[in-house]
Amino acid sequence: MSIPVRTTVNITVRSAAKINLHLGVGAPRDDGFHPLTTVYQAVGLCDDLTATLPGEQDAPWDLRLRVADYIDPGAVPVDDDNIVARAATLLAAHHGVPVRGHVDVDKAIPVAGGLAGGSADAAAALVALDRLWDARTSDDDLLALAAELGSDVPFALIGGTALGTGRGEHVMPLPDGGTWWWVLVPSREGLSTPQVYRHFDKLFPDAPAVPPPADELLDAVAAGDPVRLARLLRNDLQEPALDLRPDLGVLLERGESEGALRGIISGSGPTCAFLCESSDHARDLAGALMRHGHTVVLVANGAVAGAHLVENLHG
Ligand code: ATP
Repeated sequence: MSIPVRTTVNITVRSAAKINLHLGVGAPRDDGFHPLTTVYQAVGLCDDLTATLPGEQDAPWDLRLRVADYIDPGAVPVDDDNIVARAATLLAAHHGVPVRGHVDVDKAIPVAGGLAGGSADAAAALVALDRLWDARTSDDDLLALAAELGSDVPFALIGGTALGTGRGEHVMPLPDGGTWWWVLVPSREGLSTPQVYRHFDKLFPDAPAVPPPADELLDAVAAGDPVRLARLLRNDLQEPALDLRPDLGVLLERGESEGALRGIISGSGPTCAFLCESSDHARDLAGALMRHGHTVVLVANGAVAGAHLVENLHG
């Protein structure tokens, strides 16, 4: 006689925040999206998503969030609007299977911070649920589903340093010879990405075709040279973000006067990212900014991996 054993499976996937070393933005396309050329870099500030198969008595789907103390839990929806739920629905529909899973998200990536935290969670959900359901989605299909979920989601799957084109969803890994040290200063109050883009359109109604990253920038990344890279960082959303949030300009200046090689707005902001020469330099700068009264100052290095399995427990 065989003894029935219920098998539970816990799958934890880690997924990283991104910053943009280059973000060239053009006037909106007919579909309303802005054409971009961007150089993404995944940095070591990560969310962990754990997916578990529900037991027979459990609800088929449950999503719970635990957030770091610098994140307002109310800023993240836990219903069907959460991008994790949207990723689950999309993956299930792709395979014609029901949505099943208990998903816990441990969020360390600030919300609405220009760090693509939601995109990171979506990528983690695709990878974790694909495993949980043993769906064996091809890489091409995962990338296509990711692009449906959001422009930054394909990059969150691949990580590293990559060129993004289209609206950011076409990604190509780039040679990267460095270990890059960043100090990230999030803001209590987020900035809405659509609002920043609308302000960009107002400031630059005739934005020209999107400028590609300079060859010098790609060379500096390949050579791992932070001093050269610092000069070449570019973010076309910085001006509208600073216009909406002038306090961020003060913070950028403060970071640079405290010795950062360069400070930039991350994506659509409001997180400020400061490039440093080394880990010691980053820690020193973080200390100086904390002494100025910034309570949340994070040190992160790049480039790190895209959404990847960190734990797979069978019990
Ligand atoms: P992007 O530039 O891609 O919009 P962001 O880093 O500025 O990214 P996110 O943290 O991704 O912003 O959050 C954008 C909005 O998405 C939030 O205001 C939040 O309400 C919603 N959201 C839905 N699901 C999530 C999630 N899992 N994590 C964070 N935000 C989420």
